[in-house]
Amino acid sequence: MNTAATSFPERNAAEVADLVFAREAAAPEVVARRARQRRQMYIGQVASYSLGASVLLLYAYDGAISMGVPSLFWLGGLLIIGTFTVLSEAGFGDRFEDHYLTVFQISAHTALQVVFLLAVPTVGVAFLAVLFLIFAFGTLRMTSSQAMVTWGLTTCGLVVVFLGSDLPIGLPVTTRLQRTASMLCFVLVIGQCATLGLFGATLRKILYRRSIELKAAYQRIEELAELDELTGSYNRRCIMRLLDTAIEESRHASTPCAIALIDLDWFKRINDAHGHPIGDEVLRTFAITIFANIGPADCFGRYGGEEFLLLLPGADGGAASRMLDRLRQIVADLDWNAFSPGMRVTISAGVVTLRDNDTADTFLVRADRALYSAKAQGRNRVITD
Ligand code: GH3
Ligand code: MG
Ligand code: MG
Repeated sequence: MNTAATSFPERNAAEVADLVFAREAAAPEVVARRARQRRQMYIGQVASYSLGASVLLLYAYDGAISMGVPSLFWLGGLLIIGTFTVLSEAGFGDRFEDHYLTVFQISAHTALQVVFLLAVPTVGVAFLAVLFLIFAFGTLRMTSSQAMVTWGLTTCGLVVVFLGSDLPIGLPVTTRLQRTASMLCFVLVIGQCATLGLFGATLRKILYRRSIELKAAYQRIEELAELDELTGSYNRRCIMRLLDTAIEESRHASTPCAIALIDLDWFKRINDAHGHPIGDEVLRTFAITIFANIGPADCFGRYGGEEFLLLLPGADGGAASRMLDRLRQIVADLDWNAFSPGMRVTISAGVVTLRDNDTADTFLVRADRALYSAKAQGRNRVITD
């Protein structure tokens, strides 16, 4: 005499999210998936009513209730399930937020239990037990206000039965068969409630896992939005934002701030002589080399093409100049022959320190001017302004 249990294989996260947050008009595949989920649920409900009717049959066989009760109960259940199945197949529920029409289902099944409670009070406790199952099922999908409304309606029904009548509501336990049937009715309801509970727990677990995956994906998206794909250094947008922040912090803390514009020398020739893919490898190796030799507070980003911006918060002109000259030396000393025999790679850099009247733009223009001087003076050198 149970209504609600569906079979609950672990659904994939999209299905679960859909199950919980079914909303506005959805894509055809979502509509088809929802219809499939509802079919599963109705099959579960038929099984549930069949089990309940079988238990009633035991009472009837024992003579505790009339022979018509089990079949009427079963047919009543099927009538409700059939009605909702027809609505479901017609796509009626799809236009509602809750495509299961949970409130209506709960109300119909509860009404059926109350009718049988009134009609066959001698096994009334069995129908009352089903109400637990109905609500365990319903609250999986209802909002709290819907749950309050259906609970209120059920309370009204129970008031009518318990206070509006003096029917002897009970559960027969006189004979061994009656005791068996009574026991079975509880065993089945508890079993189905437990299944629903487990389903809820599985749902929570899947959603939890999904939220962790989403967090990781979001983090990855943020990283991708900030990083240059080829070199793994910050992209231009990000390094410019960091430059603004570095200037602000330097002014706020009254600490020095240096930047360096770094450009690979004769890079066009490297591309022309060794090919663009090798040129890409050179850029990558150059970036890795810089990463390996700067401090944790320093920021390194691709300013454009083969030109990079290095932020050195806290560094004064002397420290920045020494740092850049060290980087220049390291790059020049790398064994570039591994990429292509005879290859040499050098860099030039323009280093400047922040002045009181500098904006990010003037700061960069000064760095660019220093870089231009380094190029003009023969490349593979650092000029500090
Ligand atoms: P200079 O010493 O004056 O800087 O000479 P240069 O050849 O390095 O400068 P130029 O501006 O003439 O050439 C820069 C070259 O960098 C041209 C362009 O094809 C190359 N380049 C820019 N971005 C990439 C990239 O992502 N990969 C490769 N392989 N080459 C790039
Ligand atoms: Mg260059
Ligand atoms: Mg350049």
